Amino acid sequence: MEIENIVANTVYIKARESGGQKKGKSKKWKNYLQFPHYTECIPQKKENGEPPPEPDYAFVVEKQPIGKLLFHEFCQATNPQYHQCCQFQTKVEEYETSDDDGQSRRDLASAIVALLSSKNDQDLSSSIDEEVWCAFLSDEVISTCISTADSATHDSEPRSDIFSEPYRLTREYLKQKPFAEFIQTMYFHRFLQWKWLEKRPVDKHTFRLYRVLGKGGFGEVCACQVRASGKMYALKKLEKKRVKKRHAETLSLNEKQILQKVNSPFVVSLAYAYETKDALCLVLTLMNGGDLKFHLYNLMPGGFDEKRVQFYAAEITLGLQHLHLEHILYRDLKPENILLDDFGHVRISDLGLAVELKDNEPIKGRVGTVGYMAPEIVKNERYTYGVDWWGVGCLIYEMIEGKAPFRQRKEKVKREEVERRVREDQEKYSEKFSEAARTLCRGLLHKEPGFRLGCRRVGKPEDGAEEIRAHPFFNTADTATGREPVPWKKMEAGKVTPPFCPDPRAVYAKDVLDIEQFSTVKGVRLDATDTQFYGKFNTGCVSIPWQSEMIETECFAELNTFYEEDGSLVWNLRPDGINMEERRN
Ligand code: ADP
Ligand code: MG
Ligand code: MG
Repeated sequence: MEIENIVANTVYIKARESGGQKKGKSKKWKNYLQFPHYTECIPQKKENGEPPPEPDYAFVVEKQPIGKLLFHEFCQATNPQYHQCCQFQTKVEEYETSDDDGQSRRDLASAIVALLSSKNDQDLSSSIDEEVWCAFLSDEVISTCISTADSATHDSEPRSDIFSEPYRLTREYLKQKPFAEFIQTMYFHRFLQWKWLEKRPVDKHTFRLYRVLGKGGFGEVCACQVRASGKMYALKKLEKKRVKKRHAETLSLNEKQILQKVNSPFVVSLAYAYETKDALCLVLTLMNGGDLKFHLYNLMPGGFDEKRVQFYAAEITLGLQHLHLEHILYRDLKPENILLDDFGHVRISDLGLAVELKDNEPIKGRVGTVGYMAPEIVKNERYTYGVDWWGVGCLIYEMIEGKAPFRQRKEKVKREEVERRVREDQEKYSEKFSEAARTLCRGLLHKEPGFRLGCRRVGKPEDGAEEIRAHPFFNTADTATGREPVPWKKMEAGKVTPPFCPDPRAVYAKDVLDIEQFSTVKGVRLDATDTQFYGKFNTGCVSIPWQSEMIETECFAELNTFYEEDGSLVWNLRPDGINMEERRN
Protein backbone atom coordinates (compact mmCIF):
# COMPACT_ATOMS: atom_id res chain seq x y z
CA MET A 1 0.00 0.00 0.00
CA GLU A 2 1.32 3.39 -0.96
CA ILE A 3 2.34 5.76 1.80
CA GLU A 4 -0.13 8.37 0.55
CA ASN A 5 -2.99 5.96 1.01
CA ILE A 6 -1.84 4.91 4.48
CA VAL A 7 -1.70 8.52 5.59
CA ALA A 8 -5.10 9.32 4.10
CA ASN A 9 -6.65 6.29 5.78
CA THR A 10 -5.06 6.92 9.17
CA VAL A 11 -6.23 10.52 9.30
CA TYR A 12 -9.69 9.46 8.17
CA ILE A 13 -10.03 6.61 10.68
CA LYS A 14 -8.92 8.93 13.47
CA ALA A 15 -11.54 11.49 12.48
CA ARG A 16 -14.16 8.76 12.29
CA GLU A 17 -13.36 7.62 15.82
CA SER A 18 -13.69 11.18 17.08
CA GLY A 19 -16.92 11.71 15.13
CA GLY A 20 -19.68 13.11 17.31
CA GLN A 21 -17.48 13.16 20.38
CA LYS A 22 -15.94 16.12 22.16
CA LYS A 23 -12.56 15.62 20.55
CA GLY A 24 -14.14 15.75 17.11
CA LYS A 25 -15.44 19.25 17.72
CA SER A 26 -13.37 22.30 16.91
CA LYS A 27 -11.93 24.01 19.99
CA LYS A 28 -13.98 27.06 19.14
CA TRP A 29 -17.15 25.10 18.43
CA LYS A 30 -19.37 27.33 20.53
CA ASN A 31 -18.47 30.27 18.31
CA TYR A 32 -20.21 28.54 15.44
CA LEU A 33 -23.40 28.12 17.45
CA GLN A 34 -24.14 31.44 19.10
CA PHE A 35 -27.75 32.29 19.74
CA PRO A 36 -28.90 35.81 18.99
CA HIS A 37 -31.40 37.32 21.44
CA TYR A 38 -34.68 35.51 20.98
CA THR A 39 -36.53 38.65 19.92
CA GLU A 40 -34.35 38.63 16.79
CA CYS A 41 -35.56 35.13 15.95
CA ILE A 42 -39.31 35.65 16.01
CA PRO A 43 -40.62 35.06 12.50
CA GLN A 44 -41.57 38.33 10.83
CA LYS A 45 -44.30 39.18 8.37
CA LYS A 46 -43.67 37.80 4.93
CA GLU A 47 -42.72 40.07 2.04
CA ASN A 48 -46.30 40.13 0.78
CA GLY A 49 -47.49 41.36 4.16
CA GLU A 50 -48.94 38.02 5.26
CA PRO A 51 -48.49 37.23 8.93
CA PRO A 52 -46.08 34.39 9.73
CA PRO A 53 -47.76 31.01 10.28
CA GLU A 54 -48.92 30.18 13.81
CA PRO A 55 -46.71 27.63 15.56
CA ASP A 56 -48.24 24.24 14.95
CA TYR A 57 -48.02 21.27 17.35
CA ALA A 58 -47.69 18.68 14.58
CA PHE A 59 -44.76 20.60 13.12
CA VAL A 60 -42.90 21.83 16.21
CA VAL A 61 -43.32 18.86 18.53
CA GLU A 62 -43.75 15.97 16.12
CA LYS A 63 -41.59 16.86 13.12
CA GLN A 64 -38.76 18.85 14.67
CA PRO A 65 -36.40 16.82 16.88
CA ILE A 66 -35.28 19.88 18.86
CA GLY A 67 -38.87 21.09 19.20
CA LYS A 68 -39.87 17.77 20.72
CA LEU A 69 -37.06 17.83 23.29
CA LEU A 70 -37.81 21.41 24.32
CA PHE A 71 -41.50 20.69 24.63
CA HIS A 72 -40.78 17.72 26.88
CA GLU A 73 -38.41 19.81 28.93
CA PHE A 74 -41.07 22.47 29.33
CA CYS A 75 -43.59 19.87 30.49
CA GLN A 76 -41.16 18.38 32.96
CA ALA A 77 -40.20 21.74 34.45
CA THR A 78 -43.60 23.33 34.73
CA ASN A 79 -46.38 20.83 35.27
CA PRO A 80 -46.35 17.28 36.70
CA GLN A 81 -49.49 16.40 34.78
CA TYR A 82 -48.00 17.41 31.43
CA HIS A 83 -44.84 15.60 32.35
CA GLN A 84 -46.70 12.36 32.96
CA CYS A 85 -48.49 12.74 29.64
CA CYS A 86 -45.10 12.87 27.92
CA GLN A 87 -43.85 9.90 29.87
CA PHE A 88 -46.94 7.95 28.93
CA GLN A 89 -46.36 8.78 25.24
CA THR A 90 -42.69 7.86 25.40
CA LYS A 91 -43.47 4.52 27.03
CA VAL A 92 -46.14 3.69 24.47
CA GLU A 93 -43.76 4.53 21.61
CA GLU A 94 -41.14 2.33 23.20
CA TYR A 95 -43.70 -0.45 23.65
CA GLU A 96 -44.83 -0.27 20.04
CA THR A 97 -41.31 -0.67 18.69
CA SER A 98 -40.14 -3.28 21.18
CA ASP A 99 -39.72 -6.97 20.34
CA ASP A 100 -42.96 -8.48 19.08
CA ASP A 101 -42.65 -11.22 21.62
CA GLY A 102 -40.58 -11.21 24.70
CA GLN A 103 -40.57 -10.24 28.30
CA SER A 104 -39.45 -6.63 27.93
CA ARG A 105 -42.60 -5.93 25.95
CA ARG A 106 -44.85 -7.42 28.62
CA ASP A 107 -42.99 -5.46 31.31
CA LEU A 108 -43.50 -2.25 29.38
CA ALA A 109 -47.19 -3.03 29.02
CA SER A 110 -47.48 -3.51 32.80
CA ALA A 111 -45.70 -0.21 33.42
CA ILE A 112 -48.08 1.60 31.09
CA VAL A 113 -51.09 -0.05 32.72
CA ALA A 114 -49.80 1.15 36.09
CA LEU A 115 -49.67 4.71 34.74
CA LEU A 116 -53.24 4.44 33.48
CA SER A 117 -54.48 2.90 36.74
CA SER A 118 -53.40 5.95 38.69
CA LYS A 119 -56.79 7.49 37.96
CA ASN A 120 -58.66 4.74 39.79
CA ASP A 121 -56.09 4.55 42.57
CA GLN A 122 -56.61 8.18 43.31
CA ASP A 123 -60.27 7.68 44.19
CA LEU A 124 -59.05 5.53 47.06
CA SER A 125 -56.31 7.77 48.43
CA SER A 126 -57.25 10.84 50.39
CA SER A 127 -54.70 13.59 49.92
CA ILE A 128 -55.61 14.78 46.47
CA ASP A 129 -55.12 18.36 45.62
CA GLU A 130 -53.62 18.18 42.21
CA GLU A 131 -55.33 16.72 39.20
CA VAL A 132 -54.42 13.22 38.13
CA TRP A 133 -52.42 13.28 34.90
CA CYS A 134 -54.95 11.42 32.78
CA ALA A 135 -58.09 13.15 34.01
CA PHE A 136 -59.03 13.81 30.38
CA LEU A 137 -59.39 10.07 29.71
CA SER A 138 -62.83 8.70 30.43
CA ASP A 139 -63.17 5.76 32.85
CA GLU A 140 -64.44 3.74 29.94
CA VAL A 141 -61.36 4.32 27.77
CA ILE A 142 -59.12 3.44 30.69
CA SER A 143 -60.93 0.29 31.77
CA THR A 144 -61.25 -1.00 28.19
CA CYS A 145 -57.57 -0.40 27.60
CA ILE A 146 -56.50 -1.99 30.88
CA SER A 147 -58.54 -5.13 30.32
CA THR A 148 -57.23 -5.49 26.73
CA ALA A 149 -53.70 -5.01 28.02
CA ASP A 150 -54.22 -7.48 30.85
CA SER A 151 -55.28 -10.23 28.53
CA ALA A 152 -52.63 -9.24 25.98
CA THR A 153 -49.82 -9.56 28.49
CA HIS A 154 -50.69 -13.23 28.80
CA ASP A 155 -50.46 -13.71 25.04
CA SER A 156 -47.23 -14.87 23.56
CA GLU A 157 -47.26 -11.89 21.20
CA PRO A 158 -49.02 -8.88 22.71
CA ARG A 159 -50.38 -6.68 19.92
CA SER A 160 -48.60 -3.40 19.31
CA ASP A 161 -51.70 -1.20 19.09
CA ILE A 162 -53.40 -1.86 22.42
CA PHE A 163 -52.65 1.64 23.76
CA SER A 164 -53.50 3.57 20.60
CA GLU A 165 -56.73 5.11 21.89
CA PRO A 166 -55.37 6.69 25.10
CA TYR A 167 -52.25 7.64 23.12
CA ARG A 168 -54.36 9.53 20.59
CA LEU A 169 -56.35 11.26 23.32
CA THR A 170 -53.18 12.27 25.16
CA ARG A 171 -51.90 13.85 21.99
CA GLU A 172 -55.17 15.75 21.55
CA TYR A 173 -54.79 16.99 25.10
CA LEU A 174 -51.15 18.12 24.75
CA LYS A 175 -51.96 19.93 21.52
CA GLN A 176 -54.32 22.31 23.25
CA LYS A 177 -53.55 24.07 26.51
CA PRO A 178 -50.06 22.68 27.19
CA PHE A 179 -48.85 23.64 23.72
CA ALA A 180 -50.46 27.08 23.95
CA GLU A 181 -48.59 27.63 27.21
CA PHE A 182 -45.36 26.25 25.78
CA ILE A 183 -45.19 28.81 22.99
CA GLN A 184 -45.23 31.60 25.55
CA THR A 185 -42.14 30.34 27.34
CA MET A 186 -38.37 30.51 26.98
CA TYR A 187 -38.41 26.89 25.84
CA PHE A 188 -40.18 27.85 22.65
CA HIS A 189 -37.98 30.90 22.29
CA ARG A 190 -34.99 28.62 22.46
CA PHE A 191 -36.55 26.60 19.66
CA LEU A 192 -36.75 29.78 17.58
CA GLN A 193 -33.11 30.46 18.31
CA TRP A 194 -32.15 26.99 17.04
CA LYS A 195 -34.25 27.56 13.94
CA TRP A 196 -32.35 30.79 13.40
CA LEU A 197 -29.01 28.95 13.58
CA GLU A 198 -30.36 26.30 11.25
CA LYS A 199 -31.16 28.89 8.59
CA ARG A 200 -27.69 30.43 8.48
CA PRO A 201 -25.71 30.09 5.25
CA VAL A 202 -23.41 27.10 4.88
CA ASP A 203 -20.08 27.16 3.02
CA LYS A 204 -16.84 25.25 2.73
CA HIS A 205 -15.65 26.56 6.11
CA THR A 206 -18.40 24.60 7.84
CA PHE A 207 -16.50 21.34 7.18
CA ARG A 208 -13.10 19.64 7.39
CA LEU A 209 -12.39 17.38 4.43
CA TYR A 210 -10.90 13.86 4.45
CA ARG A 211 -10.04 11.21 1.92
CA VAL A 212 -11.85 10.42 -1.29
CA LEU A 213 -14.31 7.55 -0.91
CA GLY A 214 -15.50 7.11 -4.44
CA LYS A 215 -16.02 8.62 -7.83
CA GLY A 216 -19.36 9.87 -9.06
CA GLY A 217 -20.42 11.01 -12.50
CA PHE A 218 -19.88 14.73 -11.82
CA GLY A 219 -17.21 14.74 -9.15
CA GLU A 220 -15.64 13.00 -6.22
CA VAL A 221 -17.26 11.80 -3.03
CA CYS A 222 -15.11 12.33 0.04
CA ALA A 223 -15.53 12.10 3.82
CA CYS A 224 -16.05 15.31 5.77
CA GLN A 225 -16.63 16.45 9.34
CA VAL A 226 -18.70 19.35 10.66
CA ARG A 227 -16.36 21.61 12.65
CA ALA A 228 -19.06 22.68 15.10
CA SER A 229 -20.32 19.25 16.09
CA GLY A 230 -17.67 16.75 14.99
CA LYS A 231 -20.23 14.73 13.03
CA MET A 232 -18.91 12.85 9.99
CA TYR A 233 -20.66 12.90 6.62
CA ALA A 234 -20.00 12.04 2.99
CA LEU A 235 -19.59 15.00 0.66
CA LYS A 236 -20.72 14.44 -2.90
CA LYS A 237 -19.41 17.07 -5.30
CA LEU A 238 -21.09 18.00 -8.53
CA GLU A 239 -18.59 20.13 -10.43
CA LYS A 240 -20.35 23.10 -11.96
CA LYS A 241 -18.58 22.96 -15.32
CA ARG A 242 -19.10 19.23 -15.69
CA VAL A 243 -22.79 19.59 -14.89
CA LYS A 244 -23.15 22.38 -17.43
CA LYS A 245 -21.23 20.56 -20.16
CA ARG A 246 -23.60 17.60 -19.86
CA HIS A 247 -26.72 19.78 -19.50
CA ALA A 248 -27.44 18.06 -16.20
CA GLU A 249 -28.72 21.05 -14.21
CA THR A 250 -32.29 19.79 -13.91
CA LEU A 251 -31.07 16.31 -13.07
CA SER A 252 -28.78 17.58 -10.30
CA LEU A 253 -31.44 19.78 -8.79
CA ASN A 254 -33.86 16.87 -8.98
CA GLU A 255 -31.49 14.63 -6.99
CA LYS A 256 -31.07 17.31 -4.34
CA GLN A 257 -34.78 18.04 -4.03
CA ILE A 258 -35.76 14.40 -3.76
CA LEU A 259 -33.05 13.68 -1.18
CA GLN A 260 -34.23 16.63 0.84
CA LYS A 261 -37.81 15.37 0.90
CA VAL A 262 -37.07 11.90 2.18
CA ASN A 263 -36.40 11.11 5.77
CA SER A 264 -36.01 7.40 6.27
CA PRO A 265 -33.42 5.38 8.19
CA PHE A 266 -33.17 3.18 5.09
CA VAL A 267 -32.37 5.89 2.55
CA VAL A 268 -29.26 8.08 2.66
CA SER A 269 -30.25 11.49 4.06
CA LEU A 270 -29.19 14.91 2.89
CA ALA A 271 -28.01 17.09 5.77
CA TYR A 272 -26.65 20.13 3.90
CA ALA A 273 -26.60 21.48 0.35
CA TYR A 274 -24.25 24.34 -0.51
CA GLU A 275 -21.95 25.64 -3.23
CA THR A 276 -18.31 26.53 -3.59
CA LYS A 277 -16.72 28.47 -6.43
CA ASP A 278 -16.39 25.31 -8.53
CA ALA A 279 -18.89 22.80 -7.23
CA LEU A 280 -22.34 22.07 -5.90
CA CYS A 281 -22.08 19.99 -2.75
CA LEU A 282 -24.43 17.43 -1.22
CA VAL A 283 -23.61 16.43 2.35
CA LEU A 284 -24.98 12.93 2.99
CA THR A 285 -25.13 10.25 5.67
CA LEU A 286 -21.67 8.70 5.78
CA MET A 287 -21.83 5.02 4.97
CA ASN A 288 -18.57 3.54 6.19
CA GLY A 289 -19.27 -0.11 5.56
CA GLY A 290 -18.90 -0.18 1.78
CA ASP A 291 -21.50 -1.24 -0.77
CA LEU A 292 -23.22 -4.59 -1.23
CA LYS A 293 -21.39 -5.23 -4.49
CA PHE A 294 -18.07 -5.09 -2.66
CA HIS A 295 -19.28 -7.40 0.12
CA LEU A 296 -20.91 -9.81 -2.28
CA TYR A 297 -18.00 -10.21 -4.69
CA ASN A 298 -14.88 -9.39 -2.68
CA LEU A 299 -15.79 -10.77 0.72
CA MET A 300 -18.56 -13.36 0.25
CA PRO A 301 -18.25 -14.83 -3.25
CA GLY A 302 -20.95 -17.42 -3.71
CA GLY A 303 -23.63 -15.38 -1.97
CA PHE A 304 -24.83 -14.45 1.50
CA ASP A 305 -26.63 -16.84 3.80
CA GLU A 306 -30.38 -16.47 3.85
CA LYS A 307 -30.58 -14.73 7.22
CA ARG A 308 -28.37 -11.99 5.91
CA VAL A 309 -30.29 -11.76 2.64
CA GLN A 310 -33.55 -11.49 4.57
CA PHE A 311 -32.17 -8.67 6.71
CA TYR A 312 -30.95 -6.57 3.76
CA ALA A 313 -34.05 -7.32 1.70
CA ALA A 314 -36.31 -6.24 4.58
CA GLU A 315 -34.47 -2.95 5.18
CA ILE A 316 -34.40 -2.19 1.46
CA THR A 317 -38.14 -2.93 1.25
CA LEU A 318 -38.73 -0.44 4.06
CA GLY A 319 -36.62 2.17 2.27
CA LEU A 320 -38.55 1.66 -0.96
CA GLN A 321 -41.86 1.70 0.87
CA HIS A 322 -40.95 5.10 2.24
CA LEU A 323 -39.96 6.42 -1.20
CA HIS A 324 -43.10 5.06 -2.85
CA LEU A 325 -45.38 6.49 -0.19
CA GLU A 326 -43.80 9.84 -1.07
CA HIS A 327 -44.64 8.98 -4.70
CA ILE A 328 -40.96 8.65 -5.57
CA LEU A 329 -39.79 6.00 -8.00
CA TYR A 330 -36.15 5.00 -7.43
CA ARG A 331 -35.25 3.18 -10.68
CA ASP A 332 -31.66 2.23 -9.91
CA LEU A 333 -31.62 -0.79 -7.61
CA LYS A 334 -28.39 -2.79 -7.81
CA PRO A 335 -25.87 -3.99 -5.23
CA GLU A 336 -23.50 -1.03 -5.66
CA ASN A 337 -26.21 1.43 -4.70
CA ILE A 338 -26.92 -0.22 -1.36
CA LEU A 339 -24.46 1.02 1.28
CA LEU A 340 -23.64 -0.30 4.77
CA ASP A 341 -23.17 1.90 7.82
CA ASP A 342 -20.89 1.37 10.85
CA PHE A 343 -23.27 -1.16 12.37
CA GLY A 344 -24.18 -3.08 9.24
CA HIS A 345 -27.56 -1.47 8.57
CA VAL A 346 -28.14 -0.66 4.92
CA ARG A 347 -29.47 2.37 3.09
CA ILE A 348 -30.46 3.04 -0.49
CA SER A 349 -28.13 5.65 -2.00
CA ASP A 350 -27.62 7.60 -5.27
CA LEU A 351 -31.03 9.10 -6.01
CA GLY A 352 -29.80 10.50 -9.32
CA LEU A 353 -32.42 8.61 -11.34
CA ALA A 354 -35.33 8.97 -8.90
CA VAL A 355 -38.47 10.74 -10.13
CA GLU A 356 -41.68 11.89 -8.55
CA LEU A 357 -44.89 10.43 -9.99
CA LYS A 358 -47.64 13.01 -10.24
CA ASP A 359 -50.96 11.42 -9.18
CA ASN A 360 -49.37 7.97 -9.57
CA GLU A 361 -49.49 8.45 -13.35
CA PRO A 362 -47.25 5.95 -15.20
CA ILE A 363 -44.22 7.42 -16.93
CA LYS A 364 -41.88 6.53 -19.79
CA GLY A 365 -38.12 6.62 -20.13
CA ARG A 366 -35.44 4.02 -20.65
CA VAL A 367 -33.27 4.62 -17.60
CA GLY A 368 -31.49 2.35 -15.18
CA THR A 369 -28.63 -0.12 -15.45
CA VAL A 370 -28.52 -2.89 -18.06
CA GLY A 371 -29.43 -6.20 -16.46
CA TYR A 372 -31.47 -4.59 -13.68
CA MET A 373 -34.09 -2.77 -15.74
CA ALA A 374 -37.58 -4.27 -15.67
CA PRO A 375 -38.99 -5.75 -18.91
CA GLU A 376 -41.50 -2.89 -19.26
CA ILE A 377 -38.63 -0.36 -19.23
CA VAL A 378 -36.63 -2.43 -21.71
CA LYS A 379 -39.68 -2.52 -23.99
CA ASN A 380 -40.03 1.25 -23.62
CA GLU A 381 -43.55 0.99 -22.23
CA ARG A 382 -45.13 3.11 -19.51
CA TYR A 383 -44.36 1.98 -15.99
CA THR A 384 -44.82 2.77 -12.29
CA TYR A 385 -43.67 1.47 -8.90
CA GLY A 386 -43.45 -2.13 -10.17
CA VAL A 387 -40.04 -1.50 -11.73
CA ASP A 388 -38.54 -1.08 -8.26
CA TRP A 389 -40.04 -4.38 -7.07
CA TRP A 390 -38.48 -6.03 -10.09
CA GLY A 391 -35.20 -4.45 -8.93
CA VAL A 392 -35.65 -5.94 -5.47
CA GLY A 393 -36.18 -9.34 -7.15
CA CYS A 394 -32.88 -8.98 -9.03
CA LEU A 395 -31.11 -7.93 -5.85
CA ILE A 396 -32.40 -10.78 -3.70
CA TYR A 397 -31.59 -13.24 -6.45
CA GLU A 398 -28.05 -11.89 -6.73
CA MET A 399 -27.47 -11.90 -2.96
CA ILE A 400 -28.46 -15.57 -2.73
CA GLU A 401 -26.96 -16.91 -5.95
CA GLY A 402 -23.83 -14.76 -5.99
CA LYS A 403 -24.61 -13.62 -9.52
CA ALA A 404 -27.25 -11.51 -11.20
CA PRO A 405 -30.27 -13.29 -12.75
CA PHE A 406 -29.72 -12.23 -16.36
CA ARG A 407 -26.00 -11.70 -16.63
CA GLN A 408 -22.91 -13.60 -15.51
CA ARG A 409 -20.38 -11.51 -13.68
CA LYS A 410 -17.86 -9.97 -16.11
CA GLU A 411 -19.66 -11.76 -18.95
CA LYS A 412 -18.89 -10.16 -22.32
CA VAL A 413 -22.34 -9.86 -23.71
CA LYS A 414 -24.17 -7.30 -25.80
CA ARG A 415 -26.80 -5.08 -24.25
CA GLU A 416 -29.36 -6.47 -26.73
CA GLU A 417 -28.76 -10.02 -25.56
CA VAL A 418 -29.18 -9.11 -21.87
CA GLU A 419 -32.37 -7.28 -22.73
CA ARG A 420 -33.68 -10.25 -24.67
CA ARG A 421 -33.08 -12.48 -21.64
CA VAL A 422 -34.87 -9.98 -19.40
CA ARG A 423 -37.87 -10.00 -21.73
CA GLU A 424 -38.01 -13.71 -22.52
CA ASP A 425 -35.91 -16.01 -20.34
CA GLN A 426 -37.03 -17.65 -17.16
CA GLU A 427 -34.35 -17.16 -14.49
CA LYS A 428 -32.92 -20.38 -13.01
CA TYR A 429 -32.99 -21.30 -9.36
CA SER A 430 -30.20 -23.41 -7.86
CA GLU A 431 -30.38 -25.39 -4.63
CA LYS A 432 -29.10 -22.27 -2.83
CA PHE A 433 -32.69 -21.00 -2.75
CA SER A 434 -35.08 -22.14 -0.05
CA GLU A 435 -38.68 -22.67 -1.08
CA ALA A 436 -39.73 -19.30 0.37
CA ALA A 437 -36.82 -17.42 -1.23
CA ARG A 438 -37.63 -18.93 -4.61
CA THR A 439 -41.33 -18.05 -4.52
CA LEU A 440 -40.42 -14.53 -3.44
CA CYS A 441 -38.00 -14.01 -6.34
CA ARG A 442 -40.41 -15.64 -8.79
CA GLY A 443 -43.13 -13.28 -7.65
CA LEU A 444 -40.93 -10.20 -7.90
CA LEU A 445 -39.42 -11.19 -11.25
CA HIS A 446 -42.76 -11.70 -12.97
CA LYS A 447 -42.39 -10.30 -16.49
CA GLU A 448 -45.90 -8.81 -16.48
CA PRO A 449 -46.05 -5.91 -14.04
CA GLY A 450 -49.77 -6.52 -13.49
CA PHE A 451 -49.05 -9.94 -12.00
CA ARG A 452 -45.87 -9.02 -10.15
CA LEU A 453 -45.64 -9.19 -6.38
CA GLY A 454 -45.99 -5.68 -5.00
CA CYS A 455 -48.06 -4.44 -7.94
CA ARG A 456 -51.42 -5.93 -7.18
CA ARG A 457 -52.83 -3.50 -4.68
CA VAL A 458 -55.82 -1.93 -6.30
CA GLY A 459 -56.47 1.60 -5.07
CA LYS A 460 -53.13 2.05 -3.38
CA PRO A 461 -50.39 1.34 -5.93
CA GLU A 462 -47.81 3.28 -3.90
CA ASP A 463 -48.08 0.83 -1.03
CA GLY A 464 -47.22 -2.44 -2.73
CA ALA A 465 -44.56 -2.95 -0.07
CA GLU A 466 -47.20 -4.39 2.25
CA GLU A 467 -47.65 -7.32 -0.11
CA ILE A 468 -43.93 -8.03 -0.04
CA ARG A 469 -43.69 -7.62 3.71
CA ALA A 470 -46.41 -10.26 4.07
CA HIS A 471 -44.49 -12.90 2.07
CA PRO A 472 -43.52 -16.13 3.92
CA PHE A 473 -39.82 -15.42 3.26
CA PHE A 474 -40.07 -12.62 5.83
CA ASN A 475 -42.60 -14.19 8.16
CA THR A 476 -41.81 -17.85 8.65
CA ALA A 477 -39.02 -19.61 10.48
CA ASP A 478 -36.87 -22.10 8.60
CA THR A 479 -34.61 -24.46 10.51
CA ALA A 480 -32.47 -25.34 7.49
CA THR A 481 -31.34 -21.75 6.91
CA GLY A 482 -31.82 -20.40 10.45
CA ARG A 483 -34.24 -17.80 9.11
CA GLU A 484 -36.64 -16.25 11.67
CA PRO A 485 -39.71 -14.05 11.10
CA VAL A 486 -38.81 -10.34 10.76
CA PRO A 487 -39.94 -8.25 13.77
CA TRP A 488 -41.19 -5.44 11.53
CA LYS A 489 -41.93 -2.74 14.07
CA LYS A 490 -38.59 -3.25 15.69
CA MET A 491 -36.89 -3.20 12.33
CA GLU A 492 -38.64 0.03 11.34
CA ALA A 493 -37.26 1.54 14.52
CA GLY A 494 -33.74 0.45 13.52
CA LYS A 495 -33.49 -1.79 16.57
CA VAL A 496 -32.75 -5.13 14.92
CA THR A 497 -29.09 -6.12 15.29
CA PRO A 498 -27.57 -6.60 11.82
CA PRO A 499 -26.24 -10.09 11.00
CA PHE A 500 -22.87 -8.69 9.92
CA CYS A 501 -20.95 -5.75 11.41
CA PRO A 502 -18.23 -4.01 9.37
CA ASP A 503 -14.76 -3.77 10.92
CA PRO A 504 -14.47 -0.31 12.54
CA ARG A 505 -10.73 -0.17 11.70
CA ALA A 506 -11.18 -0.95 8.02
CA VAL A 507 -11.77 1.39 5.09
CA TYR A 508 -14.22 -0.23 2.70
CA ALA A 509 -13.21 1.90 -0.28
CA LYS A 510 -10.61 1.68 -3.02
CA ASP A 511 -7.12 3.04 -2.27
CA VAL A 512 -7.01 6.80 -2.83
CA LEU A 513 -4.60 6.38 -5.73
CA ASP A 514 -6.75 3.75 -7.41
CA ILE A 515 -9.71 6.09 -7.62
CA GLU A 516 -9.41 7.62 -11.05
CA GLN A 517 -8.72 11.32 -11.33
CA PHE A 518 -11.09 13.53 -13.27
CA SER A 519 -9.98 15.22 -16.46
CA THR A 520 -10.40 19.00 -16.62
CA VAL A 521 -13.51 20.29 -18.34
CA LYS A 522 -12.79 22.45 -21.36
CA GLY A 523 -14.88 24.90 -23.32
CA VAL A 524 -17.49 25.74 -20.69
CA ARG A 525 -18.07 29.16 -19.16
CA LEU A 526 -20.30 29.87 -16.23
CA ASP A 527 -22.61 32.89 -16.49
CA ALA A 528 -25.52 34.70 -14.80
CA THR A 529 -28.20 32.11 -15.59
CA ASP A 530 -25.99 29.50 -13.94
CA THR A 531 -25.77 31.62 -10.81
CA GLN A 532 -29.55 31.74 -10.64
CA PHE A 533 -29.73 27.96 -10.76
CA TYR A 534 -27.07 27.58 -8.05
CA GLY A 535 -29.24 29.73 -5.82
CA LYS A 536 -31.96 27.05 -5.90
CA PHE A 537 -29.41 24.44 -4.98
CA ASN A 538 -27.64 26.34 -2.22
CA THR A 539 -30.21 25.96 0.57
CA GLY A 540 -27.92 25.12 3.52
CA CYS A 541 -29.03 22.88 6.39
CA VAL A 542 -31.83 20.36 6.04
CA SER A 543 -33.96 20.65 9.13
CA ILE A 544 -34.40 17.17 10.58
CA PRO A 545 -30.90 15.76 9.94
CA TRP A 546 -29.29 18.96 11.18
CA GLN A 547 -31.30 19.00 14.40
CA SER A 548 -30.59 15.31 14.94
CA GLU A 549 -26.90 16.08 14.49
CA MET A 550 -27.08 18.80 17.15
CA ILE A 551 -28.75 16.37 19.57
CA GLU A 552 -26.59 13.32 18.82
CA THR A 553 -23.32 15.22 19.19
CA GLU A 554 -24.52 16.80 22.44
CA CYS A 555 -24.26 20.35 21.11
CA PHE A 556 -27.91 20.67 22.04
CA ALA A 557 -27.43 19.44 25.61
CA GLU A 558 -24.36 21.62 26.19
CA LEU A 559 -26.03 24.77 24.92
CA ASN A 560 -29.34 24.09 26.57
CA THR A 561 -28.79 26.41 29.51
CA PHE A 562 -31.15 29.14 30.42
CA TYR A 563 -29.24 30.53 33.38
CA GLU A 564 -25.83 32.06 33.95
CA GLU A 565 -23.55 30.37 36.43
CA ASP A 566 -24.50 32.89 39.13
CA GLY A 567 -28.12 31.83 38.75
CA SER A 568 -29.37 34.82 36.78
CA LEU A 569 -31.60 34.23 33.84
CA VAL A 570 -29.99 34.43 30.42
CA TRP A 571 -33.03 36.24 29.13
CA ASN A 572 -36.56 36.98 30.13
CA LEU A 573 -39.13 34.26 30.15
CA ARG A 574 -41.86 36.16 28.46
CA PRO A 575 -41.96 39.00 25.98
CA ASP A 576 -43.84 41.08 28.54
CA GLY A 577 -40.68 41.08 30.63
CA ILE A 578 -41.81 38.98 33.57
CA ASN A 579 -38.83 37.09 34.90
CA MET A 580 -39.15 33.53 36.01
CA GLU A 581 -37.57 34.37 39.36
CA GLU A 582 -38.86 31.31 41.17
CA ARG A 583 -36.82 28.99 38.98
CA ARG A 584 -33.53 30.42 40.19
CA ASN A 585 -33.45 28.44 43.38
P1 ADP B 1 -23.11 9.11 -8.98
O1 ADP B 1 -24.53 9.46 -8.86
O2 ADP B 1 -22.36 10.20 -9.66
O3 ADP B 1 -22.90 7.74 -9.53
P2 ADP B 1 -22.83 8.13 -6.31
O4 ADP B 1 -23.82 8.76 -5.42
O5 ADP B 1 -23.15 6.76 -6.78
O6 ADP B 1 -22.50 9.10 -7.51
O7 ADP B 1 -21.41 8.12 -5.55
C1 ADP B 1 -20.23 7.65 -6.16
C2 ADP B 1 -19.43 6.76 -5.21
O8 ADP B 1 -19.11 7.46 -4.00
C3 ADP B 1 -20.20 5.54 -4.72
O9 ADP B 1 -20.05 4.46 -5.60
C4 ADP B 1 -19.55 5.26 -3.36
O10 ADP B 1 -18.32 4.58 -3.52
C5 ADP B 1 -19.23 6.63 -2.85
N1 ADP B 1 -20.32 7.13 -2.00
C6 ADP B 1 -21.44 7.75 -2.42
N2 ADP B 1 -22.24 8.09 -1.39
C7 ADP B 1 -21.61 7.69 -0.27
C8 ADP B 1 -21.93 7.75 1.14
N3 ADP B 1 -23.07 8.32 1.55
N4 ADP B 1 -21.05 7.24 2.02
C9 ADP B 1 -19.91 6.67 1.57
N5 ADP B 1 -19.56 6.56 0.28
C10 ADP B 1 -20.38 7.07 -0.65
MG1 MG C 1 -23.72 5.82 -8.63
MG1 MG D 1 -26.27 9.05 -9.68
